[in-house]
Order: sequence, then structure tokens, then C-alpha cells
Amino acid sequence: MDLNFSESEIQRYARNILLREVGGTGQAKLRAARVLIAGAGGLGSPLALYLAASGVGHITICDDDNIELSNLQRQVAHTTERLGMGKAESAAIAMRQVNPEVAVRALSIRLDGANVKDLIADHDIICDGTDNFATRFLLADACVAGRKTLVSAAVLRFEGQLSTFKPHCGPAHPCYRCLYPEPPPPGLVPSCSEAGVLGAVTGVMGTLQATEVLKEILAIGETLSGRLLVWDALAAEFRTIRLKRDPNCPACGG
Ligand code: ZN
Repeated sequence: MDLNFSESEIQRYARNILLREVGGTGQAKLRAARVLIAGAGGLGSPLALYLAASGVGHITICDDDNIELSNLQRQVAHTTERLGMGKAESAAIAMRQVNPEVAVRALSIRLDGANVKDLIADHDIICDGTDNFATRFLLADACVAGRKTLVSAAVLRFEGQLSTFKPHCGPAHPCYRCLYPEPPPPGLVPSCSEAGVLGAVTGVMGTLQATEVLKEILAIGETLSGRLLVWDALAAEFRTIRLKRDPNCPACGG
């Protein structure tokens, strides 16, 4: 791994490098890492900004939506000036403004069965910040098949959930379908556009998601694999639920 840093990189990342758990080696790991962010919305905004600011060297962000006024209450990578612009492009502009040292790629496409395999193959860690179950299950299954670590966050109203899925790392590590075997019937679980979400809640969850991505790249601390973090913002309470791998899981079992 290339451990040479320019003077401006050393200054930019000084507070990271000071951490014993990161240091120059960790910073080099971040620079070499390739992360895919699915969704440039309320979760993807802080996620993209913190990964770029932290020096994650290669970031791809994909989203096929354009910015609407009702997005700006929580999607803080976008601006009023950029209303109508593609969200992926807008998030890429925001990332480059924070840190021109990292390589950022914007894809204004919807993930589907035809493109998901090639897209994840080019990355080490996949982040799910999407807002619909079809994409969540598509991405989760593709990550199991492609042996990619998936860091997945979700928000609704005043609550957030976060976990890391890496069943390729062994029997202690469940996949997304070990937790949710099938998508819920259409209409059963409301979306944020139907039920609302407090803007700052998405900011917290996207930032926690960024922290878990950095931990996975650096291989430090306790992974969230095998645990689901649930935050109830109204109660101001976090809890962690143990997740077990399901031997009959339709994605990773057998
Ligand atoms: Zn599974």
C-alpha cells in the first residue's frame, strides 16, 4: 500500500492520523478504498460528505432522482440553487467541494437487475441509503452473491435502523434476508414521503452509517455485523438487537 502523503493530505487528515487506531496506515487504507453509495438522499447526503471528507479515495454515488424542494429539509448535500439537478451529480459537486483529493463518480441511474452486479463488483463496501424495498432487496442479494460488505441504514418518522451485513465472513455473520426474508407486501410499510421523517434523524443515521463504513475499511472496533442498531429519537434511546444467521435463509443459507 502507498504510504506516501502530500503535505496537504497530511494537514487535511491530521485529526484522523492522530488517532492511534487510524494513523498513516489507516489513512492509506481509506485512500485505497472503493465505496458505492446507493441513494443520494437523506442518508446518502451526510454519508457522502463524511466519506469524502475522511479521505475515502474512490466514491461512486448513484441515484436517478432530481432534487425537489421537499428534499432540502434533510438532504443536506443539495442546495436551493441546484433544485432540478440530478441528485447524484449534486452530491458529487458537494463532495468535490469538501475534498478535491478524492475521486468521485456520479451515476444518474436506477439500480436494477441488469446493472447491479457490475456496479458492486468495482467496490469494496456497498452502502444502502435507498428509500424502497425493491432496491434494498436487489442490492442485498447482489452483495451476498458478490461477497461484498453491505452497510445498510433506514429511517422513518423519528426512528432509524442500521446494520452491517457480511455473510461471506462466516457463520456468525447474517445477511439482510436473515433479518427480513421477503419484502413486505406493497403498502404495508409507509415510505418517508407518506409518513414523514424528521430531517435531523436522517442526518444522524447517515453519519452513523459513515462511521460504520470507516470502521469496516479500517478494521477497527466492534463491527455491527450480527447486530441491529435501533434509535428512537423521541425517546432519545439507542438499543442493539442481536441478529443470527438463518440456516434456511433464501439468500445465504444452505
Ligand atoms: Zn441470510
